[in-house]
Amino acid sequence: MTSRRRIAIVEGDGIGREVIPVAEAVLARLHPDYEFFPVDVGYGRWERTGCPCADRDIALLKSADAVLFGAITTPPMKDYQSVMLRIRKALDLYANLRPVRGDGFEILIVRENTEGLYSGIEERTDDRATTLRLVTRTGTERIVKAAIALARQRNGLLTIGHKANVLKSDVFFRDICIAEAESAGVSYNDKFIDALSLDLLQHPKNYSVVVTTNMFGDILSDVASYLVGGLGLVPSANIGDEHALFEPVHGSAPDIAGKNVANPIAALRSAAMLLDHLGDPEGSLRIENAIQTVLSAGILTRDLGGSTGTREFGEVVLTALCL
Ligand code: ATP
Repeated sequence: MTSRRRIAIVEGDGIGREVIPVAEAVLARLHPDYEFFPVDVGYGRWERTGCPCADRDIALLKSADAVLFGAITTPPMKDYQSVMLRIRKALDLYANLRPVRGDGFEILIVRENTEGLYSGIEERTDDRATTLRLVTRTGTERIVKAAIALARQRNGLLTIGHKANVLKSDVFFRDICIAEAESAGVSYNDKFIDALSLDLLQHPKNYSVVVTTNMFGDILSDVASYLVGGLGLVPSANIGDEHALFEPVHGSAPDIAGKNVANPIAALRSAAMLLDHLGDPEGSLRIENAIQTVLSAGILTRDLGGSTGTREFGEVVLTALCL
């Protein structure tokens, strides 16, 4: 008998508190056999208790089979360390997979998630600030190996995004990626990240799997979301060898938080990715089909030109699941 799956639910801040309950309700409908437990971390928690994330929260996240995660606000304060960065490091979630699917294209952005410009090695004085961009052989090899495996699964091209014409750390990244791609025998090309950003928008069908460093991948996936209707639609998976966390690409969007207008599709698709990861591709497909049924009926949230609220959208998706 397999043990009961345990899913940690982190709503976090802002619209995370609105879109995650929608996604959790759908997961609970499909899997009454799962156990869901909340983990309260983020800026809201910091405001209430002075601590955004304690060691025992990290232990709770590690104890789960998977984490469904909303978004966390990182205030621009000098001494506030990003909770998300801490979680990614603690759970060693080194591969951030961001699928962007549209009419006739299916792009998967594979973003290195633990180093690069987001290594957290920073210094600030009154006169200058520095951020170290750390790119290691181990970090690069494991992300490109993950990307190669995904390109193989899809029988697709691997594109390496970098800025090797300017950054030595990216010459290093590019060369390791090329060596791995050649020894694995997958088809690949490489492009400068700025040219790639434009070309991806102009010719999305030319792309399958794109591997790149941390910040470039972060920006590129927001850019690519333009192809499919914006940030409200794009999910992501953060995968490590031991843990996995699923979250919308969007952040906490404080400008629209608390208004019941956020689009929960990115969160729903993140829940679908979670099911895929836990070995339930059928459940995952049921979520996507329900989303498509609702969208085809013209039921849309405000970002897509409609007026359906977050909660109401979630209710129709639940109904569509049962059809
Ligand atoms: P954070 O600092 O947490 O990253 P942010 O506001 O800087 O938050 P995002 O949360 O990524 O960045 O959002 C950018 C903008 O995109 C938001 O201001 C919002 O208008 C829009 N947006 C993001 N997510 C959604 C959503 N799910 N539904 C509708 N609009 C969204």
